[in-house]
Amino acid sequence: MAKKQFKAESKRLLDLMINSIYTHKEIFLRELISNASDATDKLYYNAMKDGKTGITRDSLPIELTLDKENRRFVIEDHGCGMTAEELESNLGTIARSGSLAFKKENQDQADIDIIGQFGVGFYAAFMVASHVEVVSRAIGSDQANRWESDGTAGYTVTPCEKEENGTRITLTIKENTENETYDEFLEPYRIQALVKKYSDYIRYPIKMDMIRS
Ligand code: ADP
Ligand code: MG
Repeated sequence: MAKKQFKAESKRLLDLMINSIYTHKEIFLRELISNASDATDKLYYNAMKDGKTGITRDSLPIELTLDKENRRFVIEDHGCGMTAEELESNLGTIARSGSLAFKKENQDQADIDIIGQFGVGFYAAFMVASHVEVVSRAIGSDQANRWESDGTAGYTVTPCEKEENGTRITLTIKENTENETYDEFLEPYRIQALVKKYSDYIRYPIKMDMIRS
């Protein structure tokens, strides 16, 4: 009998991912920052390859914004961004890593620094968020797109506007329950401590801002 391929129930797999792969929900931040860094690296390396000078790492910050009142956590990068197709394939396929592919294609680059490889880190966002919105505009494209999901029920991708290339991810932070608290992820001192703990080595500036109402 011919060898058969394993099949997977993607909803269950996602559920497993969100609830079992990671022990600490705080690592969602490490995962999102590493993705932002990878995306910025891709832009940076491509710029170098094309001989574009005058672009510095300092001019490509990763920006965090906390909006306590509306329970929003925003992370924005100025990296390579994603097309509608890339949003579909990279965020719609569990364990699909666009970063691993990039690493393979650019093996000749000496100091390549891309972190991602397993294609599961992004979904850690659902450990702390009831809703995730990803607005992204790929470098070299005028069109932006919005990927949205409440978790296991699926996702949508729709065209939208965005001024610059890069990606802006907005998490709607879950409400506290009897057993779990999420409010801490809207506290600047807590986020600052997590950035220090997990993302100190990131080669782009990480900035933080608060929206006060
Ligand atoms: P990994 O980082 O291990 O590849 P993830 O689940 O964290 O896996 O992310 C999946 C893929 O989605 C990445 O490989 C990348 O192609 C894409 N992606 C995620 N976040 C971003 C971002 N901020 N900008 C551009 N692409 C991203
Ligand atoms: Mg990742």
